[in-house]
Amino acid sequence: MMKLNIQMFAVPFRKVSKTRKRTRQAHKAMTAPGMVACPTCGEMIKPHRVCKHCGSYKKQNVVEVKEAE
Ligand SMILES: [Zn+2]
Repeated sequence: MMKLNIQMFAVPFRKVSKTRKRTRQAHKAMTAPGMVACPTCGEMIKPHRVCKHCGSYKKQNVVEVKEAE
């Protein structure tokens, strides 16, 4: 006789309703990253990073900015 290989695994007790699922997802919204104005050029940049627009950090020029073609 053929041996049945039935594996038992955890199955949710009941279906999660649309409301319950959506209520849980309500806390997963994305937020905008913190942005500050560059003290040298005034562009909005992420804090504690070299400015992409003027290449400055703490009001000192630290990297050369290549002009976009
Ligand atoms: Zn800048």
